[in-house]
Amino acid sequence: MSALGGQLVGAIEAGGTKFVCAIGREWGCELLARQTFATGDDPSRVMLEVTSWLQERQSELGRLRALGVATFGPVDLAADSLTWGRITTTPKRGWQQADLVGPLRRAFPGVPIGLDTDVNGAALGEQRWGAARGLSDFVYVTVGTGIGGGGMSGGHLLHGLLHPEMGHMFLPGTAEDDFPGVCPFHGRCWEGLCSGPAIAKRAGCAVEDLAPDSDAWAKTIDCMAQAIVNLTCVLSPRRIVLGGSVRKAGRLGEEAFFARVRVGVRELLGGYIGAVELSERGLERYLVPPVLGDDAGVCGALALGQDQLRAV
Ligand code: ZN
Repeated sequence: MSALGGQLVGAIEAGGTKFVCAIGREWGCELLARQTFATGDDPSRVMLEVTSWLQERQSELGRLRALGVATFGPVDLAADSLTWGRITTTPKRGWQQADLVGPLRRAFPGVPIGLDTDVNGAALGEQRWGAARGLSDFVYVTVGTGIGGGGMSGGHLLHGLLHPEMGHMFLPGTAEDDFPGVCPFHGRCWEGLCSGPAIAKRAGCAVEDLAPDSDAWAKTIDCMAQAIVNLTCVLSPRRIVLGGSVRKAGRLGEEAFFARVRVGVRELLGGYIGAVELSERGLERYLVPPVLGDDAGVCGALALGQDQLRAV
């Protein structure tokens, strides 16, 4: 099978609530097999489940030639670091200093491993097969239980000191808004103001149940527009892909959510940046949902693994 269909690549999307594992090929995003495991609070247990599943698929389908891991963070991505591939300061119970790469190296000796953040992985997947196809300068953000962002500048995934932590940028917020935010580190950062738990706390109900004309949606959307403007001004992306569960926006609906954020972005920019992409019509293609949808993460992990085959 592998000889006909290309070399096989294992993909692992390591999320805060679940790990999604899949097998793909050296090109394309078709998944030959997939499985989900609960993240839980015991990293060694879930890594054992992951490696066992991958080894079982390997004996059925053929040898895995590369692995890609797209993980929640913060994670050590410095290739020359002794703690490469370890989760660092997460508040998630049991996961501080958890080693994602070590168990994979032991189970698949000599197999190259591509590692990046979940959002950089999703960005790569969207760039290869989705809403950022062919773009070399764009941002991917996910707004769900938390907020994270990745993307590319000049065709390279954004890394730098560690990796971007876009979800923790500070926002001015709106006048007469005394909501303290929910981020345990910063209170009123973007994640503290606009993540799913933030909206639920502000509204006193689940995001899905929130009335479209509620004050909580209005304030959330104002803050969301501020964050999108900040990203636009700082990184000059050609497109911003906004994924994650919050964008589905329950009773408000995804289309209305995007339309209202776009209006907010245009008002805040005040016509200052003279790009057609930031005009009323242009914004419909500038701020967009992901094409890969909920598969962006696992397809991104696959893309990270595929790049290892191109690198060796
Ligand atoms: Zn924060």
